[in-house]
Amino acid sequence: MSGFSALSLKGLQKVGDILIPGTPGMPKFSDVKLLKDLHRMTDYMNADDREGFKILMMLFAITPSFAIHALLWLVSKHESFPDFIGALFRQINLGVKGVVYTLYYSDLDDHSIFQSLNYKTGIYSPVTQDTEMDTLLKNSNPLTAGISQEPKEVFASARLAQKEIAKLTIDERLQIVENLRHVILRRQEEIIAVVQKETQKARVDILTSEFFPLFENLDFIAHEAKSGLKPEKVSTPIAMMGKASKIWFEPMGTILVISPWNYPLYQAITPITLAFVTGNATVYKPSELTPLTGLVESLLKDAGFKPQWAQVVYGDGKIGSALIDQRPQKIFFTGSVATGKKIMAQASQYLIPVELELGGKDPMIVFEDVNMDRAVKGAVWGAFTNSGQSCTSVERLYVQESIYETFKKRIVEEAKTIKLGVDTDGDADMGAMISDKQVQIIADLVQDAVKNGAKMLTGQSWDFKSKFIPAIILEGTTHEMRINKEEIFGPVLPIMKFKDEADAIDLANDSDFGLSASIWSKDKARCERVASQIVTGNISINNVMVSEGNHSLPFGGVKDSGIGRYKGVHGLRGFTNMKSVMIDADSSKIEANWYPYTPTKNGLFGGLIQSLFGGGIGKWIGLVRYGLPLETHAKKAKR
Ligand code: NAD
Repeated sequence: MSGFSALSLKGLQKVGDILIPGTPGMPKFSDVKLLKDLHRMTDYMNADDREGFKILMMLFAITPSFAIHALLWLVSKHESFPDFIGALFRQINLGVKGVVYTLYYSDLDDHSIFQSLNYKTGIYSPVTQDTEMDTLLKNSNPLTAGISQEPKEVFASARLAQKEIAKLTIDERLQIVENLRHVILRRQEEIIAVVQKETQKARVDILTSEFFPLFENLDFIAHEAKSGLKPEKVSTPIAMMGKASKIWFEPMGTILVISPWNYPLYQAITPITLAFVTGNATVYKPSELTPLTGLVESLLKDAGFKPQWAQVVYGDGKIGSALIDQRPQKIFFTGSVATGKKIMAQASQYLIPVELELGGKDPMIVFEDVNMDRAVKGAVWGAFTNSGQSCTSVERLYVQESIYETFKKRIVEEAKTIKLGVDTDGDADMGAMISDKQVQIIADLVQDAVKNGAKMLTGQSWDFKSKFIPAIILEGTTHEMRINKEEIFGPVLPIMKFKDEADAIDLANDSDFGLSASIWSKDKARCERVASQIVTGNISINNVMVSEGNHSLPFGGVKDSGIGRYKGVHGLRGFTNMKSVMIDADSSKIEANWYPYTPTKNGLFGGLIQSLFGGGIGKWIGLVRYGLPLETHAKKAKR
């Protein structure tokens, strides 16, 4: 079959069973025996990779399972190895897992296993058999199913529900999140249809910037949440010898999530699952422009969430504000700077902690030694993906003056090839804008720049009204113009020159925003040197918008781009109450620093401080000279 020998197929099944050993209700890899899609998948590989893959599988066939386990563990740590070995390990890690998981799930789909699957954990109902989107939406839509949208009632039931969630073990929560992964995979096409109807995006944009990061988040949760939330042991100062110190990561309570309209599916599922796995209930308010009415509830229900565990409340900013008045334990807000400030002001009345993921004005710096073809294509995608409606899209392009003219010519040619459309087959690059209001903002900013002397190198055909905005490249803009100060959030890219490193750094930092940036050069040392001087929360070197794609990295901004971090273990813990715990024995000992204070203690403590914190080996001498007498004195201390 597909040029695979019996031995290589045996190896594939062996490694498949190690990666997917099966759980109750889920078959193991080798039980899904039809490897008929193998040739389809491996046909996409180049000939060398395909042959390499077959040889690797043959080696797996004759290698003991424990050694394969060890190898898979080793290659999953590819980041810890030097460049060459790290790249090889990454290829093995991604290649083997990619083939195994894709084959498994594509076969499962063919067999409709998911349709009859009952993810039994004993804590939630079986998956619904209903595949009709309309019926599901109707059944799960709170607007039609009679579930309250009244903020007070929503929060009252969320608070009760949170107690239930907190009682689930981390494994039970992870299982439900895992179910959600399968539900979304199974219903991918239905979901794309709903998202595309509301957002008018190009289909590939939905796949790459809604589904991909969403699954990366779910994978992060599956692999890293448990260890990230495990109580952490920390060191105990020598003066507190004999005690143990730990951090517990406990649920906060109810998290209010308020989202914008640019990635409505991703921005719903990601914070809801992070809040859930950390033991919180969620009240989620989508943007009034892209509510996806009923869809999120339907997916969660399908995965085994109870309706009150994560509730969706529909409406505009007034509803958002009314929800804040219910005093959630945390607000996770993604949106504009103006709204972020209002939310923070309101939250301050109740001292509710806020996490603000706000806008960006991301610079891209291109040095003269760069691979120009890659940098041109990177700039075009980074500026125009999702029609520029991304907080981390490239909004200011700085090119070193020696290559500026050539770069400009190439980027103009490239931008002109972008195909507009709302497609169903992947044949469009850029869809329409989501919001009429945003179209108006873009028209104002571009017209203001042109009025002040900038020139449109592309996109002159736009009538400044249509939601289908072609890629616009602007030349001759300055930092005094609004276009380089305010967020554009649309397919517009000002291109400017810089002289040297210092000039590039000054230009990049000349902004109220600090969300993300990218540096492009063959010289990695220069990239890192420049990157370290850019005031920003995230940075990509020789790539664009990738740092946010890795869900093991924390994400968030500085300056006007926001407060707080989500994603990665740091972000996950942002949904917890970090409780500091010190444990001592129930002994008969009296602490030396407790009452009564005495002149002897006074002398001993004075000496102890001098020796403990004075540095060097005096610390140990001081402990013997002052610490031990203090202990003894404390036990029998009488005035
Ligand atoms: P927005 O600020 O207008 O609205 C965001 C959400 O806030 C909506 O759900 C809205 O109904 C709600 N809201 C409005 N007023 C409110 C109030 N007073 N109280 C409570 N809720 C209120 O933003 P938008 O136009 O929907 O989205 C675009 C913005 O989002 C851009 O600035 C973009 O940069 C930013 N964004 C940031 C990130 C990030 O991760 N940093 C990601 C995506 C989008």
